[in-house]
Amino acid sequence: MAEGRTLPDLQWKRYWRTLRFRIGNSGQRLVLTPTVLNHVAMYQQIESFSAEAGGQLFARFSDAEIRIERATGPRISDRRSRYGYVPDRRREQEEIDALHGRGLHFIGDWHTHPEPHPRPSASDIRSIRQAVRDSKHHLNGFILLIAGTERFPVGLFVSLYYGQGEAEIVLDS
Ligand SMILES: [Zn+2]
Repeated sequence: MAEGRTLPDLQWKRYWRTLRFRIGNSGQRLVLTPTVLNHVAMYQQIESFSAEAGGQLFARFSDAEIRIERATGPRISDRRSRYGYVPDRRREQEEIDALHGRGLHFIGDWHTHPEPHPRPSASDIRSIRQAVRDSKHHLNGFILLIAGTERFPVGLFVSLYYGQGEAEIVLDS
């Protein structure tokens, strides 16, 4: 272990670069800002005892970009285990209301998986599709972001789900 560094320092690999993704052939880009990457990276399940964590994603929209500027959670009232994460729904709604006033729109969810290259589980996909169907806002899809244990972007899964289909999200080189 490097001198003068604590364990959390070593786990927390800070990101400075913005990641840009193409969304199908829409011409619009999905943008993950360093603020969001660093927030999610703090909860990567690097240790064998770390529990799943998660929260919500908030974005600003333009014709060119869906720019995710804020990730929330986990909250003290969430239920978390190694292979499970159930968020506090009431807190989630409070976040949506509070951030809406600052021009940040709820765009989807993030959570962690204890695997290097994360893939959504069947229940992950079921619940994101249900959220799209239940939503009353103007978007016709939701982002699902899953953080595995590898360094990003290798350890990231990102997709945009509609009620039925799913848009292919590809990292811009
Ligand atoms: Zn999952």
